[in-house]
Amino acid sequence: MNTIASCEIICVGTELLLGEIVNTNAAFLSRRLADIGINVYHQSVVGDNARRLAEAIRTALGRCELLILTGGLGPTYDDLTKETVASVSERALKMDPVSLERIRSYFKLTGRAMTQNNEKQALIPEGAKAIQNNYGTAPGIYLETNDNVIVMLPGPPNELEPMFDEQVVPLIMQFTDGGIVSKSINIMGMGESAIEARLKELMLNSTNPTIAPYAKFGEVRLRVSAKSSTGDEGEAMALCNEMVERIKNTEIGEFIYGIDEPSITHAALKRLRKLGLKVATAESCTGGLVAKKLTDLAGSSDSFVSGVVSYCNEVKMQLLGVAPEIIAAHTEVSHECVCAMAEGVRKLLGADVGIATTGYAGPGGGNERDPVGTVYIAISTADNCISERLSYSSMRDRNFIREAAAARALLLIIKHLH
Ligand code: ATP
Repeated sequence: MNTIASCEIICVGTELLLGEIVNTNAAFLSRRLADIGINVYHQSVVGDNARRLAEAIRTALGRCELLILTGGLGPTYDDLTKETVASVSERALKMDPVSLERIRSYFKLTGRAMTQNNEKQALIPEGAKAIQNNYGTAPGIYLETNDNVIVMLPGPPNELEPMFDEQVVPLIMQFTDGGIVSKSINIMGMGESAIEARLKELMLNSTNPTIAPYAKFGEVRLRVSAKSSTGDEGEAMALCNEMVERIKNTEIGEFIYGIDEPSITHAALKRLRKLGLKVATAESCTGGLVAKKLTDLAGSSDSFVSGVVSYCNEVKMQLLGVAPEIIAAHTEVSHECVCAMAEGVRKLLGADVGIATTGYAGPGGGNERDPVGTVYIAISTADNCISERLSYSSMRDRNFIREAAAARALLLIIKHLH
């Protein structure tokens, strides 16, 4: 095996075929492989059935250099992945002493009794290498043959993902010509088709770097990937940076909130930390989602003080100090009310910044001026308060409206705190 140009992913598990679990492993692996310039030409799902799995493996080995299998490495009788790979590649299974020892200590450490069939997890095909699992019991397996590289990883995403990033990527990178880098542009407030319409020419005409948009919940990412002709990553990075700058200078520029940010929450917390500011939240229709997003990230206590879920008007008035006249004159879903909430929570909790949300997430509620899908968001600082009216289609469900509005509320931090 000299070069890996293409890959196939086979995810094993009857529960995937039944729709009981969503195949996030294939999506994760495909994304990561695209990042390192390996084309994924086929993905398939096979149930816990040795004959059908063997058939899928044979087909895959005939049409790609890299085959990645996920799941079916557990200790039970229906876990068939490595047995089937061993049989297709005509190799015996042998005990891997390091893996066996690690499994024994894992059980000891977690205080659980180890059964005989757990030992089965330490079996690997002859000639293969174990990929150690620091997050569970089943080790992964790496097998190089004359024509293929075969990687087997355990099904649970919290085990598979770090194992792939930490151990599999370095192993397979030796078979690529390197020099591929990519940057991801985070865009919020402009939809995927609007972005495509504005960048169509550039996207069609640029082959190196390539530009690919993809929608993530409430935002769009543009992936810019460049390849160097000499394998020099610096050269590829320069091409990428040049294109990112070019895109920043288009109409899309004002909607870019970051480059390579894992999420808007990461970007917002980073900004608060950089400025040494603390935020407090007052949420009505988002019911605490903004606070949840912030506290989902470790270390958020540096920048997040606390939050109030002020769902009913009494709490808006009595706790946050929203004047009853504001609600009487403008209703609780208005610029005036959301600003009073943001200012109220900032003062109540002694924060530098107050963020507030109020709106109609549906399916009921709303009025002629502000139908279901209308959300007001605001940011208050000692200097001023800025609010925005968001308008989501009433075809969107409650969950979408709340999630998207919470993300847009966090975007206020990026837009207005410099
Ligand atoms: P274990 O030792 O935990 O049994 P395994 O390699 O045998 O690992 P499976 O039994 O196939 O893995 O799957 C274990 C769990 O991992 C599943 O119940 C499911 O929650 C998750 N899982 C498996 N495959 C996938 C997948 N393709 N995408 C997302 N989650 C998956």
